[in-house]
Amino acid sequence: MTKYIFVTGGVASSLGKGILAASLSKLLQARGFKVTNQKLDPYINIDSGTLNPYEHGECYVTEDGHEADLDLGHYERFLDIRTHKMNNLTTGRIYKSVIEKERRGDYLGKTVQVIPHITDEIKRNITALGRTGDYDFVIVEIGGTVGDIESLPYIETVRQMKWEHGRDCLCIHLTYVPYLQAAKELKTKPTQHSVRDLQQEGVQPDIIVLRTEHPINDTLRRKVALFCNVDERAVIQSADASSIYRVPLNMQAEHLDEVVLQKTGFDLSRVPTADMTDWNAFLQKLEGATEEVRIALVGKYVQLQDAYKSIHESLSHAAAYNNRRLVLTSLLSDDITAENVADKLQGQQGILVAPGFGQRGMEGKFIALRYAREKNIPCLGICLGMQAMAIEFARNVLGYTDANSVEMDERTTHNVIDMMEDQKTMLNKGGSMRLGAYPCRLNKGSRVYQIYKQEQIVERHRHRYEFNQLYQAEFEANGMHCTGVNPDTGLVEIIELEGHPWYIGVQFHPEYSSTVLHPHPLFVSFVKAAIEQK
Ligand code: GLN
Repeated sequence: MTKYIFVTGGVASSLGKGILAASLSKLLQARGFKVTNQKLDPYINIDSGTLNPYEHGECYVTEDGHEADLDLGHYERFLDIRTHKMNNLTTGRIYKSVIEKERRGDYLGKTVQVIPHITDEIKRNITALGRTGDYDFVIVEIGGTVGDIESLPYIETVRQMKWEHGRDCLCIHLTYVPYLQAAKELKTKPTQHSVRDLQQEGVQPDIIVLRTEHPINDTLRRKVALFCNVDERAVIQSADASSIYRVPLNMQAEHLDEVVLQKTGFDLSRVPTADMTDWNAFLQKLEGATEEVRIALVGKYVQLQDAYKSIHESLSHAAAYNNRRLVLTSLLSDDITAENVADKLQGQQGILVAPGFGQRGMEGKFIALRYAREKNIPCLGICLGMQAMAIEFARNVLGYTDANSVEMDERTTHNVIDMMEDQKTMLNKGGSMRLGAYPCRLNKGSRVYQIYKQEQIVERHRHRYEFNQLYQAEFEANGMHCTGVNPDTGLVEIIELEGHPWYIGVQFHPEYSSTVLHPHPLFVSFVKAAIEQK
């Protein structure tokens, strides 16, 4: 029987429900269980593809081409699994499907309502994961905060599932315990209120996790247990951690996995303990590194920490495996000029030019890229970053001063990034972006081949435009080699500069597939080159 564990949040947002959910999954997985995570997003967008990164941070892309919430990235990085469209649900998708059914007449004349039609649809999507027979545990994270209008149908679904599945279904509620400096006291009242909100909606949490900046004592634990109607053992403290990757170990020390197993009916003496050896080895490297590696991230959403989440995490995995402490400086590309570029990039050992959409900040990217290219600083361009590499090269090396991408301008004489046939076909089919995993063949003898150590790779995409193959021969003749191409369409996926210590642009997004136990080879190699630089 698949067990369903819901993770809800109260008091405030951004308490780390995603990390908590991923950490619990990690601990259960490390005990030998088959686990997956699902994120339910209460917003009405169909997916996060149309959301500005300032809204909910980066848009994460699954192998099957779903534009997902960034928490799916945490699940993949923690669990070393692949997630799919099924692992993410939004209110928009639920309503769309219910409305389509209504139009088809599936509801046989009934009035279509939130209960039972919307809640049934939510339930069907949650239990679909269990019905695959692939999982012992499905850990379901509900976005937003309890008490929000948007999350009501989801909490109602939890109520129904707890009633239907008995002890095969639990609710973990994550809240915040503020510390009042003046009174020198931790306050549990917001937690009590938030649990009351949940109870009002018919759900009694089984476990309460208290996010706190100060350690919680037994008296306080007892108080929360008593007022919130849970076992004392089921009041778990989640103190601020030095790194998100420490949270699974903190949760293990608090016996979160044990409490979950006991409450779902397992005999603990018959369940293996969690083997966290490899995880610990990574953490030792991550936290033990003393020497630093300095990387600059050039992008246009750098003010928001979550906008390039997967890139940050991939770099931190790569730094750890290179025994270095990552010092990441984010640079807003709009601020980079020919006059200040040397100052801004002073002391940086590697430069990463980020993905993105639209015109803003492009000139700054070209300037940073030219600097990296001419000064032999290791440089990785991702998606728009790779496209910018191609344009900068066409302008400053090939001498096409008007070179551009069709995305940036009206058509110029030299659109080195253009809309290809492939894209036109996609537009005709109603899609507008190349999304999800595509194969790529690497040239033997190239640097990327040395890095990946295989000829055929698969990487995830999210873009509209492509390197214009009309320019391929000319680029190659001048030292910019197209060393990775799509074997079916010939589309250029990788460019790399000859005679430079490390200058590689990739049309795909390697950052989506770096995990704690399998850091992405491209990032590992990039960071290594940066270290060797100076
Ligand atoms: N805007 C570019 C395109 O659509 C690049 C997209 C990206 O960086 N993800 O092709």
